[in-house]
Amino acid sequence: MAIKKIELIAAPPSPHMVGDGFRVHNFIPSAYHLDMQRMTPFIMLDYNSKFYFTPTDKPRGVSVHPHRGFETVTIAYHGKVAHHDSAGNSGVIGEGDVQWMTAASGVLHKEYHEKEFSKAGGYFQMVQLWVNLPAKDKMSKPKYQGITNAEIGKYILHNDSGIVEVIAGAYKEVKGAASTFTPVHMQNAKLKKGGEAVFNFPANYNTFLVVIEGNVSINDEEVLENHLVLFENEGEEFTIAALENSIVLVLSGEPINEPIAAHGPFVMNTRQEILQAFDDVKLGKFGFLEE
Ligand code: MN
Repeated sequence: MAIKKIELIAAPPSPHMVGDGFRVHNFIPSAYHLDMQRMTPFIMLDYNSKFYFTPTDKPRGVSVHPHRGFETVTIAYHGKVAHHDSAGNSGVIGEGDVQWMTAASGVLHKEYHEKEFSKAGGYFQMVQLWVNLPAKDKMSKPKYQGITNAEIGKYILHNDSGIVEVIAGAYKEVKGAASTFTPVHMQNAKLKKGGEAVFNFPANYNTFLVVIEGNVSINDEEVLENHLVLFENEGEEFTIAALENSIVLVLSGEPINEPIAAHGPFVMNTRQEILQAFDDVKLGKFGFLEE
């Protein structure tokens, strides 16, 4: 196995608010050169680094909005978020849980801090990713996977190094909890200080990681908390060594080499399909969801 070298270490871009509930650093597609074509199938990454929200009776979040053409994946590290969509799916995810929503042909949804969490206030830390769908699946039926931490397979690393949680794809013999349309690996390395985990992905897969907590060394280069590391599309193997107790979100996916036409909440293949999406929302084809 050849070593997969680091292409870029990216500091978190300055944060902005999405609605009033998500204070995010947008890494993909607007920062550095992390655009959709470079990062495919990962076409958006908003990172809400750990942030304290004060108590409130009115849950913060994002009101009803549409999506078409891809999947939204929310990974909770701190705090709780509630989801409702026009396909009739809803759920609450908390620390360690994952919500995998396939918007595909189109849903309306809303995303809010969970009620009790809002009342109490507290630290909130989440990742939201958009995973693109291949053209043939963009207009398939919407789907929802609410994945609790208990359902996520865990690989126990040797030498008491920690664990790798397999949200999607596989880590050694442990398979991911989520079903995906194209090959996607999504894994949390939860490492104890001094612990190590080795990852192997095909060279052509777009591969990156985000240090959610702690400081780590990647192929002997130090990477600080809240930073993103993009790997070259050469070589297969890299090692994460924890300089303190750390959590690292590791992502790798087979590129979907198709044209991308993106506008706001729609990601399709052509401009015509984007215009169609706007029309279809007006025509009520995304269903209905109360504010
Ligand atoms: Mn959304």
